[in-house]
Amino acid sequence: MSLNEYLKQATDNGWAIGHFNASELDQMRSILDACKDASSPAMIGTSEGESKHLGLAEAVALRDAFRIKYGIPVFLNADHHKSAEAAIKAIDAGYDSVHIDLSSFPMEENIAGTKMVVDYARQRESRIKNQESRISVEGELGYLRGESKIHHEKIEVKPEDYTKVDQAKEFVARTGVDRLAIVIGNIHGIAPSHPHLDVQRVLDIRRAIPNSVALVLHGGSGIPDGEVEEVIGVGIANVHINTELRVAYVHGMKRGFELYPNEVSMYKLDQEAIKAMKLVVKEKLKLFGAVNKI
Ligand SMILES: [Zn+2]
Repeated sequence: MSLNEYLKQATDNGWAIGHFNASELDQMRSILDACKDASSPAMIGTSEGESKHLGLAEAVALRDAFRIKYGIPVFLNADHHKSAEAAIKAIDAGYDSVHIDLSSFPMEENIAGTKMVVDYARQRESRIKNQESRISVEGELGYLRGESKIHHEKIEVKPEDYTKVDQAKEFVARTGVDRLAIVIGNIHGIAPSHPHLDVQRVLDIRRAIPNSVALVLHGGSGIPDGEVEEVIGVGIANVHINTELRVAYVHGMKRGFELYPNEVSMYKLDQEAIKAMKLVVKEKLKLFGAVNKI
């Protein structure tokens, strides 16, 4: 099944596909070990920074190798690519999915750039002519604050930051995206506090757009489990987790250095990091209802 088909199942049945970021081979392994154990489709994301570190061609080659090794669906997404040019490069490299994030631009520019990427993806698919080659394109609307890190200060989310229902409807109709990232009180990173997610807004947006378009929640790190379950229950079909993985991985790495102060083999030192990150992914898959969904 394609990523879009899995997303449609998730939307129809009230669960969500976990989107987990990685910039290292070991991090990908942590994600895939957890997804394999849970029989969950795996969606691995690389932001522009992570893509640059890993390399687009390298990421695609790893995905192909992991598909064979793990025997589960593995989808690679170019997360938060902030120009049509960057998103198109990822499509050309063989990514299954791109997130073209032009949300910082005015609506009309966002629509024009996003549509350009959608059109490009469709042209590429028609050249390949294979259902599996369907490229899932995500657009974003609303002002998502914060970065994927631990914020020590409170981040003020303003009502005007939220995705508006009528604009979401227009954006989806005019761009033809497969997924829409929305702002409903979420932020990137972990902050001391944030507003309760706007469940009603998810419901309203869900009703305003076709069922074939999946709703995406970014900044899933640090949101209380109950709130995540609530929004998945009303139509969020894809949840992004990055900061909690970064924290687990780096803490695990530090623990490795403490436990084995004389060790110089990286492959031994990073075992703690791999274990810690896998544990987070495992918990999230349970929370998202993504277990036994292959
Ligand atoms: Zn994000």
